[in-house]
Amino acid sequence: MASADQNPSDGILEGGCLCGAIRYRLTPDNATTDYCHCDMCRRWSGAPLTAWTQVPIDQFQVTRGTAATFKSSDIASRHFCRDCGTPVYMTDVTGRSVGVMIGTLDNANALAPSGHGWASKQVSWLALSDHLPRWPENPPYDTD
Ligand SMILES: [Zn+2]
Ligand SMILES: [Zn+2]
Repeated sequence: MASADQNPSDGILEGGCLCGAIRYRLTPDNATTDYCHCDMCRRWSGAPLTAWTQVPIDQFQVTRGTAATFKSSDIASRHFCRDCGTPVYMTDVTGRSVGVMIGTLDNANALAPSGHGWASKQVSWLALSDHLPRWPENPPYDTD
């Protein structure tokens, strides 16, 4: 596994699903890491919010197993472990980037979200005390 030392030039991160059938590696250079409160992410994860890191597609590799795929919209597919059900990553039709659920990283502290997408959909009982930027829908860097 990657060193806990976060040297950004050589900070390859590894992660995988709960049962270990799916493993991946990602290079977090220029990663965008944020929360998403949208309805689709909530239902897909079963959790009140999700946290993602988005990297260029060539910085992400599945190193073990093959994820099952669910096409969640005309533009996006979500990939999960068919054995244990862990939601692991998401791709879009442009093929530019991949979004990885940061809760699947071996080092869950490696990347921290810098904002909240779809804050208009935050569940009413969730109390958050951070002062990160909040966007009612997609973050501005996600619109195209
Ligand atoms: Zn699994
Ligand atoms: Zn979402």
